[in-house]
Amino acid sequence: MVDDRRWMCDGFDNSWGKAHSAEWRKKTQAFIDHAFAGKTHYLDRVRYPCNKYNNGKFRAKVELTKDLVSYGFMPDYETWSFHGEKETRVETEREADDSAGVDRMDEMLEALQPKFGLNSMDPPTKEVEEFFKLLQALEEPLHEHTKVSLLAFVTRLIAIKSKYFFSNNCFNDLVQLIEDVLPQRHKLPNDMYQCKRLTKALGMSYEKIDMCPDGCMLFCDDHVDKKKCLKCGKGRYVEVVNEDGDHVTTDVAQKQLRSFPMAPHFKRLFLSMKTCESIRWSKEGVRDNPGFIGHPTDSDTWKALDEFDLEFAKDARNIHFGLATDGFTPFGQSAASYSCWPLFVIPYNLPPHMCMKYEFMFFCLIIPGPEHPGPKINVMLQPMMS
Ligand SMILES: [Zn+2]
Repeated sequence: MVDDRRWMCDGFDNSWGKAHSAEWRKKTQAFIDHAFAGKTHYLDRVRYPCNKYNNGKFRAKVELTKDLVSYGFMPDYETWSFHGEKETRVETEREADDSAGVDRMDEMLEALQPKFGLNSMDPPTKEVEEFFKLLQALEEPLHEHTKVSLLAFVTRLIAIKSKYFFSNNCFNDLVQLIEDVLPQRHKLPNDMYQCKRLTKALGMSYEKIDMCPDGCMLFCDDHVDKKKCLKCGKGRYVEVVNEDGDHVTTDVAQKQLRSFPMAPHFKRLFLSMKTCESIRWSKEGVRDNPGFIGHPTDSDTWKALDEFDLEFAKDARNIHFGLATDGFTPFGQSAASYSCWPLFVIPYNLPPHMCMKYEFMFFCLIIPGPEHPGPKINVMLQPMMS
């Protein structure tokens, strides 16, 4: 049973010439101390249970105090379930239902909070600190009258562009229209270029690498300046016939591989204490049915794989991953010549309930089609090694 929490509503009075009751002030301070107990880092934040954000946002201590004084507590928050108190199973299920289809960005940010892995005794590196600052900035509401964050809005907008094949000009016009109806001090970027810059800053960028039309080699590293394939001799660039009937080589590559850097994804697995612990599961996790295969690492094949490099296999933190690919036609079956082969990386260090979730399947390469790359896929994996 929790204490009588009627003071949260009864003691709040921000009307002109009035003040919150002494009990409200004292117990609100106690709530804030409780919510921030054990949090020492300046980036530490908790959910906002105020009457404006309804536990939908995360904020630091000073901001939380200011908001509770201005807006009061949200109604019916007598069990501080988002601030360390246990609640009944019925209430938990209700909240799970309520959260269906809701933007989970805040929960991701919470999972990445410094409390999980970073504290004042273990200061973050500059790179990590900048990443968190960027996340915090992107988590700000799009404008002052909404709870939708800038990042959530931009990613949804880009997803709609991809789904319905908007051109860049169409996207920019749409953004312009949205801007016209938004309040003045909104944070929406001006165009597609600015939206892409925003997502790129989070490590969602990719690199285009020219490749031989037959997939024999990539024109990167030592071969970045080559004009022809060193194995089959085919040209790197598209050739056209000009008005005089001469063959002219353009600077457009015949085929391009799109490579998404894996290192940032793997690094971020170690930023959160939750995933950092889970990374060790394949070696140290408790199996529900010992003797049965419940995870790829239980198999003899996996154990044989470990014998290739015993030193690597010894450390539970070293990431073992699987690769998966299948043909995909982004423009439908009628445009099969544009098919491609997206390649995904799946870290198998994680426990079974995590490693098959899409959050932990990382997009790694887009191999141009239309044919399956076959054994030449080894060539395409080259960017992953670097
Ligand atoms: Zn070739």
